[in-house]
Amino acid sequence: MPQRRSFVAGNWKLNGSLATNASLLEGIVAGAPWQACDVAVCPAYVHIPAAVARLSATTIGVGAQDVADVPAGAYTGEVSAAMLREAGCRYVIVGHSERRTLYGDTDAVVARKVTAATGAGLVPIVCVGETLAERDAGTTLAVVGRQLSAVIDGAGLGALSEAVIAYEPVWAIGTGRTATPDQADEVHRAIRALLARHDATMAGRLRIVYGGSVKSANAAELFARPDIDGGLIGGASLDAGEFLAICAAARRD
Ligand code: PEP
Repeated sequence: MPQRRSFVAGNWKLNGSLATNASLLEGIVAGAPWQACDVAVCPAYVHIPAAVARLSATTIGVGAQDVADVPAGAYTGEVSAAMLREAGCRYVIVGHSERRTLYGDTDAVVARKVTAATGAGLVPIVCVGETLAERDAGTTLAVVGRQLSAVIDGAGLGALSEAVIAYEPVWAIGTGRTATPDQADEVHRAIRALLARHDATMAGRLRIVYGGSVKSANAAELFARPDIDGGLIGGASLDAGEFLAICAAARRD
């Protein structure tokens, strides 16, 4: 099995100010664990330039939390992938469940956003995951398979070759309820198997990270599973000590 370098990204969501972000970044940069894996922080759009400037001398990447599904034009309020790239972003989160449920991002929109991201040289962090009702109905793997297949069909398999997939059960995001390592592992293995049916080499290289109430107390247990290659971290990424401890737990060498 290829040794994949772990990936940990902080999704800061609609939080922070220039001042609080600056001290959060100082705390993260001052720690060593972020050097043990690939790490990114995803602030709000307007906070991206300051994060890029502060992190330019480090290996920590900066990502956006969303991107327009079109390159340019009369789309008030949108930010394009090329703009994000020019601003210094390396990553962009696409298809987060909050975008899907609160802002109507359908599977087709998510696929177009992946196309836009990769076309501009950004690494998409493609989020998939089921709701509690879907899990209770036993349709988790079908839902995640549908979400992923829509990206493969719409954006092409090549668009996923450099991507990161984030498995984020909706019922575990911001709820304090984490998927058990067994529950997460089952879905991660299914995602890799689905991709392997298209391209086994690519599936073996691809990072599949888990998101949903990850904190320092549960990270090591999740990341110990061979198909869980790190995490997409919401709440706990707003605390430098917690975030660094999660990065340390993701270390793989
Ligand atoms: C997220 O926002 O992607 C997330 C996983 O949030 P939390 O860690 O707070 O559950």
